[in-house]
Amino acid sequence: MSIQNPAEIIDAVLARHHDDPTRLMQILRETQEALGWLSRKTLAMIARGTRQPLARVEGVASFYSFFHTQPMGKYRVLWSDNITDRMLGSVDLMRKMCEKLWLEPGRVSEDGLVSVATTSCTGMCDQGPAILVNYQAITRMNVQRVTQIVDLIRAEKPLAEWPGEFFEVSDHIHRRDILLNDQISRGEAMRIAIARDPNASVDSAAASGPLLTLEEIKRSNLRGRGGAGFTTGLKWEACRNAAGWGPAPAHYVICNADEGEPGTFKDRVLLTTQADLVFEGMTIAAYVVGARLGMLYLRGEYRYLLDHLENVLKRRRKERLLGHNILDQAGFDFDIEIHFGAGAYICGEESALIESLEGKRGVPRNRPPFPVTHGYLGQPTTVNNVETLAAAALIAARGGDWFRGIGTEKSTGTKILSVSGDCERPGIYEYPFGVSVADVLADCGAAADSTQAVQISGPSGVCISSDEFKRRIGFEDLATAGAFMVFNNQRDMFEVARNFSHFFAHESCGFCTPCRVGTTLLKNCMDKIEAGHGSEFEINEIFKINHLLQNASHCGLGHTACNPMFDTLQKFRPAYQRRLKSLAFEPAFDLDQALSLARQMTGRDDAEAHLKNTMEIEG
Ligand code: SF4
Repeated sequence: MSIQNPAEIIDAVLARHHDDPTRLMQILRETQEALGWLSRKTLAMIARGTRQPLARVEGVASFYSFFHTQPMGKYRVLWSDNITDRMLGSVDLMRKMCEKLWLEPGRVSEDGLVSVATTSCTGMCDQGPAILVNYQAITRMNVQRVTQIVDLIRAEKPLAEWPGEFFEVSDHIHRRDILLNDQISRGEAMRIAIARDPNASVDSAAASGPLLTLEEIKRSNLRGRGGAGFTTGLKWEACRNAAGWGPAPAHYVICNADEGEPGTFKDRVLLTTQADLVFEGMTIAAYVVGARLGMLYLRGEYRYLLDHLENVLKRRRKERLLGHNILDQAGFDFDIEIHFGAGAYICGEESALIESLEGKRGVPRNRPPFPVTHGYLGQPTTVNNVETLAAAALIAARGGDWFRGIGTEKSTGTKILSVSGDCERPGIYEYPFGVSVADVLADCGAAADSTQAVQISGPSGVCISSDEFKRRIGFEDLATAGAFMVFNNQRDMFEVARNFSHFFAHESCGFCTPCRVGTTLLKNCMDKIEAGHGSEFEINEIFKINHLLQNASHCGLGHTACNPMFDTLQKFRPAYQRRLKSLAFEPAFDLDQALSLARQMTGRDDAEAHLKNTMEIEG
């Protein structure tokens, strides 16, 4: 067997992707997987191969936290830093791992063997603390696993030889309804959709089959499950009606599986247990809007799902549920590709996701125009959440009236909740919309008398206190993308909000100054309060920063970054007040203390002399 040199490897990756600059994300990922990291020389070769300026390729590589332009060690360990992982002991365990490895967090060991650092939520909140080792998820970390992993790293054992149980990811489905109940068989939704008008050609502008299915989707009043809640039927209709442009006009379907909101893991379980339903939903979307290509954008943390998903796609092609003339319907051509994100939360925003799919930095676009008219490569594109597409497949099979008979008037159907935190049975719960928070808490085994708060829909959502537990899940009241984090009354809600402030500062894409600077100032305020130097000044600063973020941010991340502080200040103010040192301004930096060593070395005993000098100057 010949050992390839780096140039051969890069050439092979480029050839596999036809030197296409829109495939840059895949090219960078595959190259890094083969070479360990992306050196400047490597990036220059990729830039040459894809006929782009080196600065652009470097800009993309440096944007995503899972791409490395410096050597990162043979083993890269990332600890999930979500608040629920912390509640399960991740901070102590990571410290233990670093001590055993003689390593500082964030640094590569002297011998280049290993690095240990943190990353945002890895989507394993029901089985944390979780880590990624070379981007493979390991769940249920404990002291014993830390010791075992340190030994395996020291022995330089390949990941393939690590104990298989390390990599087991459980589904933890505790409550099923229509989406998780295997309602329909493979291909059933498509057969029924086609049977609505079997003689109509898909290509024909007047084709009534796709229009009849679109009517069912509209009648169902299905709304997007990613959080925003836009009506799916209207989105598909706008995409269908938009004309493509250029020499190769086209329409596209994108499934957004980049669930990066801390506390959310329902798409992980849907793709594990109901991948056929999700792909069927994408195919139904393609049938309606007239797309020939669909793309599943999967978060890099779910890399372990790739083989399973590819196998499902392979089987669907074999059964003529994907490919050319699907189910013998002339002109119904559609296939699905899987693309990976690379550790950027902002790519969950649909226009940032499209930028990423086009091989660019994941910066949200100006809107309008919206993706339904100018999406992927500028062509009409519908972007839908995993759960939305699964629901669409059911609607295509069972009809819009059936679907709108479930849930509430404005929130039809069911919602899958990812429950984590202080409860006996964390995991997946599917309910008809309208379920109360109290009912979910009872089902998951959260103690009614000691639960103080639930964070609905992650850091960008809303934190509710115990007097609000009668509130209901649904667009009329508590809209959610799925996260449901439970906190008992032993938890410090200030620390919860501080963790979220770090999350936003880390995930701000940096495109606009108000968000880039504002989220960092916010984090600094929370850190200063935590360090015991806070005062009313910091509280007022949080309100000022919120005003700035609300009015000047480019996208939703900036708009929602202050939500956790606002909610906890309003509902758990004592958690802040007991930390405030005084009501007056309190400096975070003690100059006198910082100068003490210099005083000692020079034999001076004039503490606070700098204050005297200042007063003399001012006087
Ligand atoms: Fe990026 Fe934040 Fe601006 Fe959104 S608001 S574009 S995340 S910097």
